[in-house]
Amino acid sequence: MEIKTFSVGKLQTNCYLVWDKDTSDCLIIDPGDDADYLTTEIINLKLKPLAILLTHGHYDHCLACFELKLNFNIPIYLHPKDNLLYQNAAKSAGHWSTIGALRQPPTLPLPPKIKLGSETIEVIPIPGHTPGSVCFYSAPHLFVGDTLFEEGVGRTDFSYSSPSDIQKSLTKIYSFPEETLIYPGHENSPFFLSSLNTRNY
Ligand SMILES: [Zn+2]
Ligand SMILES: [Zn+2]
Repeated sequence: MEIKTFSVGKLQTNCYLVWDKDTSDCLIIDPGDDADYLTTEIINLKLKPLAILLTHGHYDHCLACFELKLNFNIPIYLHPKDNLLYQNAAKSAGHWSTIGALRQPPTLPLPPKIKLGSETIEVIPIPGHTPGSVCFYSAPHLFVGDTLFEEGVGRTDFSYSSPSDIQKSLTKIYSFPEETLIYPGHENSPFFLSSLNTRNY
């Protein structure tokens, strides 16, 4: 599996293009808010986008969905529990004058497994930061959204967050093999899970 990381937008969200070398079939994980940039990269790399996968419904991870859907006509997968957040994404971003009027294109519920070439990506719920947060796993790669960063864990001060749920989700993540590479939604990416084990999480 090939992976390219982009950091886009005001909040420096990490977007990931993952693709199969043989077929050039590509998945977009958390497109962020810079559809033009991603579209250019996808064309330059000669990739064939199959779908957008969202780790959760926060606006900084999904505002490019509308334009990418127009450009590539691909489905958008999200955990249904984050649909309301996702639908309010444009409003949350506070871009009333320009994109506030746009509606986010509809999403499909994430299946438990997604095929990419000969590899399988597992979809694992990790609620807490948001009710519908998920991670995507294809050993040794683990895309965790905003649940875990190299410098700390995800925010749980939103009204819909759950500090007790994120604890259970983090326990789940820490049980992955030490050589797992963590791809977070912001900050340095990737880093080894084992680099966290020396700290007091
Ligand atoms: Zn978030
Ligand atoms: Zn974020």
